[in-house]
Amino acid sequence: MLGRGRILVNTGSGKGKTTAAFGTVFRAAGHGQAVAVVQFIKGEWSCGEIRAAERFPNIQVTRIGAGYTWLADDPEVPRSLAREAWDKCCELAASNEFDLLVMDELNCAVAEGFVSVDEVLRLFEAKPARLSVIITGRDAKAEIIAAADTVTEMHCVKHAFYCGVPARRGIEY
Ligand code: ATP
Ligand code: MG
Repeated sequence: MLGRGRILVNTGSGKGKTTAAFGTVFRAAGHGQAVAVVQFIKGEWSCGEIRAAERFPNIQVTRIGAGYTWLADDPEVPRSLAREAWDKCCELAASNEFDLLVMDELNCAVAEGFVSVDEVLRLFEAKPARLSVIITGRDAKAEIIAAADTVTEMHCVKHAFYCGVPARRGIEY
C-alpha cells in the first residue's frame, strides 16, 4: 500500500533543495510512477537534471519563467509567468494522473507575492490521495511548513561560490 500522498518541503539557504527533489523524482520514476515537475522563476537555462529527466517517459517537465525576477525590466512579466506556472500546477494536481508533483522554487514565487499561501494550502487540501508534492525554495512560509508532512532545511555550512569559485556544470547546474 502506498498510502496517502505526502507533502514535502525542501527549504533553507544551503545547497541541495532542487537536487534532493530531483533525487526523489528519479526514485519515483524508477518505480514506474508518473511524475510532473513545474519549475518557477527559472528560464531556459539548461540544467543537467532537466536533461536527465527528459530521458524518462514518465517524467513531465514544465519550465515557465524568465530567470531572476530582479533582472526583469517589466515586473509584470515575472508575475504573469509565475501565475502561468501556478495554473499548470493546479491543472496537473487536479488531473489525478500523477503520483508526484514537484513545484521547484514555488517558495520563492510565494515570497515574491506571485502565489498566495492560501492558494498553496488549497492545493494541498484538494489534491488527489495518490499525489505527493514537493515544494522547494528558500524562505518557506510558516503556514506551508505547518501543513507539510516532511520538511527539510538545508543549512549552508560553506559554499564554494563565496570563495569566488564559479558555478560548475554537473554540480551547480
Ligand atoms: P541545487 O540546485 O544545487 O540543489 P538549491 O536548489 O538548494 O541548489 P537554489 O537556491 O535553487 O539552490 O540556488 C540555485 C543555484 O545556486 C544552484 O546552482 C545552486 O547549486 C546554487 N546554490 C545553492 N545554495 C547556494 C549557496 N548557499 N550559495 C551559493 N550558491 C548556492
Ligand atoms: Mg533550487
